[in-house]
Amino acid sequence: MEESRLLNTLKEYFGYESFRPLQEKIIASVFEGRDNLVIMPTGGGKSICFQLPALLLPEITLVISPLIALMKDQVDGLTANGIPAAFLNSSQTENQQQDIFKRIEKRELKLLYVAPESLQVIDRFLSNGKVSLIAIDEAHCISSWGHDFRPAYTQLGYLKKRFPETPVIALTATADKATRQDICNQLNIPNAEKHIASFDRKNLSLEVRPGIKRFEQIEKFITPRKNESGIIYCLSRKTTEELASKLKAKGHIVEAYHAGLPHDTRIQIQDDFINDHSKIICATIAFGMGIDKSNIRWVIHYNMPKNMEGYYQEIGRAGRDGLASDTLLFHSYADVVQLQKFASNAGNSEVQLAKLDRMKQYSESLTCRRKILLNYFGELKQEDCGNCDICRNPPKFFDGTIIAQKALSCIYRLKEQEPLTTVIDVLRGAQNEAVFSKNHQSLKTYGIGKETSWQHWQNYLIQLINLGYIEIAFHRHNNLQLTEIARNVLFNGEKVQVAKVPDRKAILKNTEEA
Ligand code: ADP
Ligand code: ZN
Repeated sequence: MEESRLLNTLKEYFGYESFRPLQEKIIASVFEGRDNLVIMPTGGGKSICFQLPALLLPEITLVISPLIALMKDQVDGLTANGIPAAFLNSSQTENQQQDIFKRIEKRELKLLYVAPESLQVIDRFLSNGKVSLIAIDEAHCISSWGHDFRPAYTQLGYLKKRFPETPVIALTATADKATRQDICNQLNIPNAEKHIASFDRKNLSLEVRPGIKRFEQIEKFITPRKNESGIIYCLSRKTTEELASKLKAKGHIVEAYHAGLPHDTRIQIQDDFINDHSKIICATIAFGMGIDKSNIRWVIHYNMPKNMEGYYQEIGRAGRDGLASDTLLFHSYADVVQLQKFASNAGNSEVQLAKLDRMKQYSESLTCRRKILLNYFGELKQEDCGNCDICRNPPKFFDGTIIAQKALSCIYRLKEQEPLTTVIDVLRGAQNEAVFSKNHQSLKTYGIGKETSWQHWQNYLIQLINLGYIEIAFHRHNNLQLTEIARNVLFNGEKVQVAKVPDRKAILKNTEEA
């Protein structure tokens, strides 16, 4: 496909002057008939990657999408741009569906959005086998390692078998390494070309504070930001309402939003916020999906989110216009305990707990938070960001190379097959079941860290995870594994700076005074 033709189509149908990073490369790969996996943050511009090819390809493009509400929005948008598109899902009547089938037969449609549950229904209408492209949106839903598993997605691997010649493009905003591979395996596209956009949103400042006297802290935070729009995310519906009424009493223009409110009320609250009639929304995570407001200046997490994916998505609603925006997360032990309870009751509790653990480590970090956030999404950054609380007010560091060498070589000797607790036990020369049952006391590294306390080791190991030297294997008993860059420390004499373990009492005292 000629470049000029692509660009002209982009201008004519979508009204954009140029492609965003990666879009053009992805589209070219689709035209070459390859399978593709696209990882791009929300708002990055994933839709163009399949909508534009769909327009130019001879036959229909199938788009699998899990959210019926967003499906309609997308189809409306396409239709308004003069692109023939329709959707098919269980909310439609038999007649409506028959209409669409007729349009498929007449080859009128360029895009067909389908809920994964409705796949069987359309299968027989595609019996001529003519599908130009299969797009799988929100592809992380296929993976139980992901944070938003949907059982209906697991049958999508069938598509590649049914249409072996048709290229598949899988798209998601959130997928850690394990999830990425799982997506490709399950979709039967093992050789998909992977396109990973940067997740770095430099204009968002990051800050974590202990969750004490939260209301006072919030008031201080928003008072100098009176005319700015912001969202306060809370864990429970009750908290959204209580917080909103307390803020109202102090003269702020604020609404509570959660899934328990009537549909019309929710639409009204959204519209008021988008049109700047209200400034602050106290919301559960139900708020924000599909909301395209560019000038949200701040996001506060009253409670800790249950995983990094959610956190990233929620803070990502701030600063879409690229201007400086602030984010603030409150971290409290009580929240962690509650979230742990939720996670352990979930279907895939092991994964959920491990993900929560990463969130906890992020909030407890002593190193640049953006590095941790980006490392989580597979972007290994060496430079500190300068726009997080840690960068602005750094903890004290010392040469921790020996500590790192001890820890990493211990993991190495354990063949990367033990979780954090056992690694610490071996370092400290503990005499317990975890050690003796596997004869770890015979290892060279047994007891090499006994002068350091358990809590300090835990802190240092978390730092090494956050620095990207160690990975947690979620799906293998949370065992600690070494990353590529760990070799530099073990074999090439790389120095590691480690932060002093902070004195908790001092942190709390400072914040209370601040
Ligand atoms: P995603 O699906 O990755 O969340 P969208 O495809 O919805 O993102 O695009 C996000 C926003 O960026 C939309 O408002 C879209 O109109 C805009 N957009 C996408 N591609 C371009 C482009 N090449 N130039 C300008 N705006 C774009
Ligand atoms: Zn930083």
